[in-house]
Amino acid sequence: MPRILIIFGTWTIKVPVFFLCFLGLLTGCNNGNNSQEVLVEVAEVIESTASESVQLPTPTPLPVPPPVTPPTSEVSMSKIVSAQGSPDAQLLSFDDFDNAQLACVDIESVIAATIYLENTTNSLEESELRVRVCSVVSLYNVVNKADLTPELLIESGVEGFVDDTGKPDLWAFDEVMLDAPEKNFLVPGLQKLVNAFHYNRDNVWPKQINISFDDGGALDSLYEHLWRFEKYNATITYFVSHLALIDEQRVLEIEAQGHEIGHHGALHRHAAIYSKEHGVEKWLEEDILGQLEYMKALGLNVTTFAYPFGARTKQTDEALLKHFTHVRRFAAWSGLEYRNQRSDLAIMTGFSIDSHRINLEQIFKAMDTLRGGETLYLGTHAIGNYLSPWHITTENLEAVIAYAASKDIQFCKMAECQNFKIASE
Ligand SMILES: [Zn+2]
Repeated sequence: MPRILIIFGTWTIKVPVFFLCFLGLLTGCNNGNNSQEVLVEVAEVIESTASESVQLPTPTPLPVPPPVTPPTSEVSMSKIVSAQGSPDAQLLSFDDFDNAQLACVDIESVIAATIYLENTTNSLEESELRVRVCSVVSLYNVVNKADLTPELLIESGVEGFVDDTGKPDLWAFDEVMLDAPEKNFLVPGLQKLVNAFHYNRDNVWPKQINISFDDGGALDSLYEHLWRFEKYNATITYFVSHLALIDEQRVLEIEAQGHEIGHHGALHRHAAIYSKEHGVEKWLEEDILGQLEYMKALGLNVTTFAYPFGARTKQTDEALLKHFTHVRRFAAWSGLEYRNQRSDLAIMTGFSIDSHRINLEQIFKAMDTLRGGETLYLGTHAIGNYLSPWHITTENLEAVIAYAASKDIQFCKMAECQNFKIASE
């Protein structure tokens, strides 16, 4: 069956000849003209149609868009200011910060700036926000975690870093450092860590008290009054000196009853004076290491030390921390306010509750103001009435223990006061 190509503009259709005859488009279909003639005529039609199709209409020119003028610095800055606390902050680009002349923001740190803006609850004025954004970027760009400072975090808008006296809260900072990432510090993530610290301190971590008794000479009175501690389910720390001269069986029994035995110097040397005159090594050798070895040989678990007279130097602190996990200083001077201390310190101060120093009102106040994770460290010597002032009366001891128990304050052994996080889990 012969077919003919018909072109309509850009459409091409193959049509059987009989169909064209049927439509009457071809003459001679019925008068015997041969199909060759038909094809010639159609070819002419096709040729003339094809030559017409190349004459395309002249396109209408597109309208020319007006030239793009970048927003002014004021407009971009106002966009940044209004992005505080808004999801719109996600839409900010490097160009916005660039236009706003915030040169501290580069392409890599745009993310830190926008995440800060989206999450902040502050609404700073332009000039303050400029400084804040640059601090946020500086924080993000800190390469070494050890270079973080409380000041940089405060300047970056991380809240909860200032203590009651307006100074940086170093404990909050230390807690953040424990869990912060190694780099790429973002304000919202750090804020969560600070919030967790405050939550734990206010709601989770226990309030603690450690009472310690010093000197070999206190052994017998302490031994006789162990029942008082048992009555309140309280544990204490006994710092032993002159072990060679006292009843070591009683020392062992005190530990067996659940209390802690610490070291207080074999000869009760004044560490600051003796080490200055003879050197730290000789002091360590004579007053510390021999008795420590002997205590361990007896089976005592000794990890804490209390300075005789509270006398110390930086060098003696360092030397002791190679052999003990905790070292207690002693504050026995008058006029000093009792302070509660965080429970994770390796070196802490015990406050004297000896007969000539004790102030029950101050101690009760200290217990009332204890916060979670803090320990009130109190230190004394013998229990009972003695000529020497270095003792606590049974009445005062009873009052201190009973008050702590009534306030649900936990008694901790010095080596275990640091376990407050584990205890609260
Ligand atoms: Zn002593």
